[in-house]
Amino acid sequence: MKTDVLVIGGGIAGAATAYYLATEGVDVTLVEATDLNTQASGANAGSIHVQIQHPEFVGLGPEWARAYGPTLRLLIESQRMWLGLSAELGVDLDVSLAGGLLVATTPEQMRQIEAKAGIEREFGVPIEIVDRAGLQRLAPYLADNAIGAGFCPLEGKANPLKATPAFAAAAQRCGANLLTHTRILNVEAAGIGYRVTTGSGTIEAGRIVNAAGAAAAGIAGMLGIDIALQGVPLQVTVTEPVAPLIPHLLYSAAGKLSLKQARNGSCLIGGGWHARRLADGRLVTNPAHLAGNMTNAANLVPSLGQARAVRSWTATVNGTEDWRPIIGEVPGHKGFFLSLFPWVGFSAGPITARLTADMILGREPHVPLEGVSALF
Ligand SMILES: Cc1cc2nc3c(=O)[nH]c(=O)nc-3n(C[C@H](O)[C@H](O)[C@H](O)COP(=O)(O)OP(=O)(O)OC[C@H]3O[C@@H](n4cnc5c(N)ncnc54)[C@H](O)[C@@H]3O)c2cc1C
Repeated sequence: MKTDVLVIGGGIAGAATAYYLATEGVDVTLVEATDLNTQASGANAGSIHVQIQHPEFVGLGPEWARAYGPTLRLLIESQRMWLGLSAELGVDLDVSLAGGLLVATTPEQMRQIEAKAGIEREFGVPIEIVDRAGLQRLAPYLADNAIGAGFCPLEGKANPLKATPAFAAAAQRCGANLLTHTRILNVEAAGIGYRVTTGSGTIEAGRIVNAAGAAAAGIAGMLGIDIALQGVPLQVTVTEPVAPLIPHLLYSAAGKLSLKQARNGSCLIGGGWHARRLADGRLVTNPAHLAGNMTNAANLVPSLGQARAVRSWTATVNGTEDWRPIIGEVPGHKGFFLSLFPWVGFSAGPITARLTADMILGREPHVPLEGVSALF
């Protein structure tokens, strides 16, 4: 078969790119090795992040945070897109953007939050510093030892089980061709385009979007392109439903944690805790990390100590060391685009796809990518 644009990967980056291209009348085919939304995009914790993640700020420092700063503009724009996505795609995506709270229990943590907020504000992220009295009003469910927080009013959550399928269905309605259970085995340059070998035949593509998430480096490698992207196994845990308690996205400055309550009352608990990869490649939950994650959650919201964890799961996130996204056409490989936003690629899925589609359409990207994408 032949297609103008072949999108590789049926996660949020690929499905949304296919959608934005199909709405513009582009002949686009999406190929997915298994089913849509089965990897990171369907297995993540559903946080809509905008602010710099606290553990990275502490670990990598203010210089790194300033270098990462321009990327925050993409997250701000993506958040704005999330606000309208349910209406645009015709599916309730459970989007709730009631704000994110990074909670401190020591003066030293408060100082780090304030330093981080100073940098975030330079790049347009609104962060309010909340003292203990303010915190008691805003989030009375927090532990008594919470002394203050940084509050980012843009942040929140959406439902990972719904977002990518909604993009894919909308893409299909607009004319995109979706091929599931079609694994890319090889890609080679052919004339002015590419010849792509799949498990079920050959595809001639004018252009390619590599949106294969954690597997994207392997696909780029088929053309001799080296990208610094690794797959990192993570785990998330969900509790039984409890009464409505937590409207915010919560983080702890005391340790790795992201915590939110889904619409059905379950609390999703994650924050970048690593899972274990067995020798045969399968991922399993790391029990010590599960305990650490649950302890951080119960320390922040004591009543969660009573909630039973009903399930933990694992998935591989697409990570880069410097956290920079890799979006754009690869120099020297005309028509071969990368559409990769590491670590928080669910939050950034809409803007990653929009920017990729802009470049394929030959338009100025919605948000400038200089100093943002590792390709510019
Ligand atoms: C446990 C966990 C929790 C997370 N929590 C959050 C969060 O709360 N908020 C947030 O913003 N981000 C979060 N993330 C990160 C986020 O989920 C990812 O960055 C994002 O989903 C990446 O989307 P993607 O479409 O690029 O990749 P994916 O969703 O991984 O999709 C890539 C697709 O490519 C397909 N593919 C791979 N190889 C081939 C091939 N050879 N041929 C055809 N298809 C192929 C795969 O099957 C897959 O479906 C989390 C990640 C994990 C793992």
